[in-house]
Amino acid sequence: MENFVVTIDGPAGAGKSTVARRVAEALGVFYLDTGAMYRSVGLLAARDGRDPVDVARTLRFEIIYSESGEKRILADGEDVTLKIRTPEADKEVSRVAAIREVRKHLIEKQRFFARGRSIVLEGRDTGSVVFPDARFKFYLDASVEERARRRYDQLVQKTAPPSLEEIEADIIRRDTADKNRPWGALTVPDQAHVVDTTNLTIEEVVEEILSHIKT
Ligand code: C5P
Repeated sequence: MENFVVTIDGPAGAGKSTVARRVAEALGVFYLDTGAMYRSVGLLAARDGRDPVDVARTLRFEIIYSESGEKRILADGEDVTLKIRTPEADKEVSRVAAIREVRKHLIEKQRFFARGRSIVLEGRDTGSVVFPDARFKFYLDASVEERARRRYDQLVQKTAPPSLEEIEADIIRRDTADKNRPWGALTVPDQAHVVDTTNLTIEEVVEEILSHIKT
């Protein structure tokens, strides 16, 4: 079977990560969470006072699965799995994602990662910029309220989560930043299947996506 690329783009909280992972599992192919790359650059640059472009250029990004199937993310050898998901990291990431040279270096790494294999990529520009010729493109969306609620449900398992209002404000802030930056802006890629996930379960979204993929 020929190698193929599946791209899944959309705003924060549309369910992309979980859906992309399950679609990749169902197809038996690799999965790349491109947001985790931008988050890693934001974290390392802010924490270590480094130039984000330099961090992106030299970043060694690895995704490792433990025997129990748990995903760990390593950035330059350091386990950043949890550190890149904090509200502070959410704030830092939009800043570095708007830097053209940061995007250039990370896009290069994403294309390299996909070389010679079938893959599901998930992010903001994977179907519009990284792989405009991908065979299967999807765009997941959901109402702001629903996306804030999902993020709240994730964060509430931790101590002192932000309020639902704070989360919604942050999602709106990130949507605005992601949609309005001059390069790599969040947009519906040409020929993408748009799926509104507001009233769908994860399983239903996965089914919908798989129904369009004929390899
Ligand atoms: O998908 P996730 O919410 O983890 O992405 C975090 C941030 O990384 C986004 O808000 C966006 O600014 C940036 N990003 C990007 N391009 C991608 C993936 C993520 O600019 N392909």
